[in-house]
Amino acid sequence: MPIYEYQCHEHDRFELRQPMGSASEQAACPHCGASARRVLSAPRIVTRGHGAWMAAIDRADKSRYEPEVVSSLPATGLRRSTPVIPLTPQLRGLPRP
Ligand SMILES: [Zn+2]
Repeated sequence: MPIYEYQCHEHDRFELRQPMGSASEQAACPHCGASARRVLSAPRIVTRGHGAWMAAIDRADKSRYEPEVVSSLPATGLRRSTPVIPLTPQLRGLPRP
């Protein structure tokens, strides 16, 4: 059952669980009984339990607006080498510098 959020003029927001599609635009405030209007809010998205996944998403999202400035390639621990193309009979016939 979804949670709908209402805003009272005198008090803070409060939530009500109501069947989908049956929430009215007004509800009585549980503190003062005054009519409170329904407000739209972001749905709750579960972010717990997937720390590495959410960190990767946050990092990718951040890189769109605040890319990290680096002065060199990140160290991978692997030695970089230029790939060597094996000399086939066809390549041996090409001019060399
Ligand atoms: Zn109230």
